[in-house]
Amino acid sequence: MGACPFLTVKGEGMSLYSIALGSNMGNRLANLGRAVALLEERYFSRLKLSPVLETPALLPANAPADWDIPYLNMVVRGTSDLSPEALLAGLKDIEKTVGREETHERWGPRLIDLDIVLWDGPSFISPTLTIPHVELLNRPFLIHLLALLDPQCRYPGGKTFGEMAHLLPDIDTCYTQSFVLNPKLVGIVNLTPDSFSDGGQYVDPEKAISHAKQLVAEGATVVELGPQSTRPQAVLVDAETEYARLHPILEGLSDDIKQNDITISLDSFLPETILKVLENYPISWINDVTGNLEDRTLRTIAERGLKIVVMHSLSIPPHRDQCLDFDRSAVESLNQWSELKIRHLESCGFQREHIILDSGIGFGKSAYQNLFLLQHVEQLKQFGCEVMVGHSRKRFISSFSHAEARDRDLETVAVSLALAEQGVDYLRVHHVRNHQRALVAYQLSVNR
Ligand code: ADP
Ligand code: MG
Repeated sequence: MGACPFLTVKGEGMSLYSIALGSNMGNRLANLGRAVALLEERYFSRLKLSPVLETPALLPANAPADWDIPYLNMVVRGTSDLSPEALLAGLKDIEKTVGREETHERWGPRLIDLDIVLWDGPSFISPTLTIPHVELLNRPFLIHLLALLDPQCRYPGGKTFGEMAHLLPDIDTCYTQSFVLNPKLVGIVNLTPDSFSDGGQYVDPEKAISHAKQLVAEGATVVELGPQSTRPQAVLVDAETEYARLHPILEGLSDDIKQNDITISLDSFLPETILKVLENYPISWINDVTGNLEDRTLRTIAERGLKIVVMHSLSIPPHRDQCLDFDRSAVESLNQWSELKIRHLESCGFQREHIILDSGIGFGKSAYQNLFLLQHVEQLKQFGCEVMVGHSRKRFISSFSHAEARDRDLETVAVSLALAEQGVDYLRVHHVRNHQRALVAYQLSVNR
């Protein structure tokens, strides 16, 4: 048996499974993320995740041209007490939950595909299931993914995947791009003339729309539209101006939003803007940087099933004279604030899984407090909500680097790696591609 040593000893009735996931429709990273979350919720207590590789579609001869959409693929591994047949039924159930249609054409585009590729039992052959998967050795990207996940894992009665991948010529041509599933990236599109690092770049709606699509292609799970600058000294605009900035972009992306090809977060704290957008577009998140939206709006957001980002701030825009109390630990202040906010949001109808906590780096904190909060961000995980950090290109970086605001991506990425290590769920960033490049390299060089 190809026992793979990274997990604990096989327990009573437990089996070690490797499952391949693929998606080439909709928000592909989000589909993979949802399937992995369901696998962990239902069948596996902990999964080890490979990186995600983009690969060209494998097509039958005479396939329609519109089937030729690249896939995102990954492999996950973990132990479960389910039998192979029971797990296959579970995988089909998850495919359905994620939205795959039951009647689909073989090799056709799909929102999600879950296959058992390997287990630590003897070869399994039934009318509905074969393990190892019959195509495993014919797909270099699967061999590569298994080798990246665990080079010592062995094909039953054969070589390790590390050796197999090593012997395959040009294995690195099997994929076009690589990503990580976690942390998830929220890509920023500022529709403003005056944002601190990219002001004016996406005022032209065509540019904003193509940037939003590019961020998804580069590995953003969510795209955040910002119709208002909240940089220090910004002059705030009213809801009418916000909506005028948002409308052409939301119209241009409307089909993608409806088809779930793109997941939108709205960065606004003005009730009129939020309610008007909600009336017209099925967006998924509201990012409230005041952390103080009025109850009526909060209730509407909760009723519609959106997620809410609640960010800690002392004033919008931030002012350098308004800081958290220096006599108290900033982490303690944030913990206390989180408890209050969660209680309030729950009273307005939000479930904890729809609340995302954001410590508000740069809003009411000194550089030292910002750094201290970054070092202890895992503390926010104790509340059972997801955690997002928005540190990208922010001014605290100037306490250790004189790079200009628009040139702070190197520092931003380095901070992101430290945050990934703490298990942060979302990073809200300007430069998505740089993040994916660094996060993949980081994930693959850490021994877990
Ligand atoms: P694909 O072959 O592209 O994965 P499907 O997901 O539609 O297409 O799979 C077709 C069928 O293959 C499944 O319904 C399942 O019964 C069968 N099958 C055989 N072996 C496996 C396996 N190891 N993992 C998943 N499905 C399998
Ligand atoms: Mg399948």
